[in-house]
Amino acid sequence: MFDLVLRDATLPDRGSGPLDIGVIDGLIAAIGRDLGSARLDETAGGRLVLPGFVDSHLHLDKSCILDRCTAEGALADAIAEVARLKRDFSEEDVYARAEATLVKAILQGTMRIRSHVEIDPRIGLRSFAALKRLQRDFAWAVDLELCVFPQEGLLNDPGTEELLVEACEMGADLIGGCPYTDSDPQAHVDRIFAIARRFDLDIDFHLDFDLDPSWMHLDAVIAATERNGWAGRVAVGHVTKLSAIPPEALTTIGNRLAAAGIAVTVLPATDLFLMGRRHDHNVPRGVAPAHRLAELGVTCSLATNNVLNPFTPFGDGSLNRIANLYANVAQLGRKAEMICCLDMVTAGAARLMRCADYGIDIGKAADLVVMDATDPALSVAEIAQPLMGFKRGIKTFERAAPRLLRP
Ligand SMILES: [Zn+2]
Repeated sequence: MFDLVLRDATLPDRGSGPLDIGVIDGLIAAIGRDLGSARLDETAGGRLVLPGFVDSHLHLDKSCILDRCTAEGALADAIAEVARLKRDFSEEDVYARAEATLVKAILQGTMRIRSHVEIDPRIGLRSFAALKRLQRDFAWAVDLELCVFPQEGLLNDPGTEELLVEACEMGADLIGGCPYTDSDPQAHVDRIFAIARRFDLDIDFHLDFDLDPSWMHLDAVIAATERNGWAGRVAVGHVTKLSAIPPEALTTIGNRLAAAGIAVTVLPATDLFLMGRRHDHNVPRGVAPAHRLAELGVTCSLATNNVLNPFTPFGDGSLNRIANLYANVAQLGRKAEMICCLDMVTAGAARLMRCADYGIDIGKAADLVVMDATDPALSVAEIAQPLMGFKRGIKTFERAAPRLLRP
């Protein structure tokens, strides 16, 4: 007797015809045809079933503040605007806005999220406390991990490091850095690694977020990763500079990243919105070619980053939409390329977050999302909607398929 059987599921990696997925105690216990009875019996109706979307880079704490903003649109303006606004963020305010964004993401089929959380003397630990509560309150629907980081710098911002350490003592899941906002970027990278070592944490940097390829903080991060033996435990986000270098140089850097065990997250919605602001025509896209890095063996993900704030005044929480956006911007139209984009919001992002229990396989977590599509490439191309989801075998949402009402 299964707790759940999801019948008639199309699983592209498993060859011909739809299969049933049987779940016991939150784990996938069987995959096959005509599985036996279950307490909850559901059907995917032959549709594509995915192991849940994985958002490896999201800022829940500063989402949904568009109605308070006046920023012009450049990166520095966005940072300054949030720096001003967050002095007034209360724990309840952060919780309410973060909850609204989290619910959107859950309804879009996202089941694992890494949220960055700003820590500094202005906001203190209020956002962190709010997101810790949210992490507990929504554990039934989503695995939410919290990456504390100094958005406005570390060595230039006295008191920040002590607060970061306090957050780590209170159970932060990992630590981030933002060397481009610091007066001493190299020392910033070194201090973040020192905290990571002290608390045995993975690291996720905001990095190289402009289009000047003549210098990169990536070199410092690669060197520190090797020096500290942190291979496989470091990710970098944005790296928009990598969109501004020719293919040979990109190949060299991609090979170095793969060898160093450093993963890359590209945030197309934000990067498109903020980069190239000095151009009034022929505006560069400013989106790093994640698919090319993935071809070189770099673990890569595409992620949401910001929702309804001055960094990205858009967002519905849909990672399928982000995969489609990236495919469009990177000019990827072939079937295998679309599937690569889907991988970067599912399995690739799960590898980046080191989710050992991810995937539709026996013994893995029964995280299952039924898409309104039968083909993975078309699911991206059409921005197919998720119709229902199960987190560890428990149904967490459903969406009725739209019906045309002919006269
Ligand atoms: Zn970010």
